[in-house]
Amino acid sequence: MEYMVICCPCCGKSVARYDLKGTVDVVADCKRCNLRITYHVGTKEITKKKIPQKNTSSGMTFRG
Ligand SMILES: [Zn+2]
Repeated sequence: MEYMVICCPCCGKSVARYDLKGTVDVVADCKRCNLRITYHVGTKEITKKKIPQKNTSSGMTFRG
């Protein structure tokens, strides 16, 4: 089966596979960089976005 490997644009780690047939954007997380990698099927673009920290420990102030 043919597929395309989606790599993290930051560290080059392969994070997901796209089977070349799907019409839905491929979203995968790079745990190394803490980035959310999105492969936009329509535009064939790969974008990265910071993953917001979910484990908010009590007393921690959020720094934007
Ligand atoms: Zn990465």
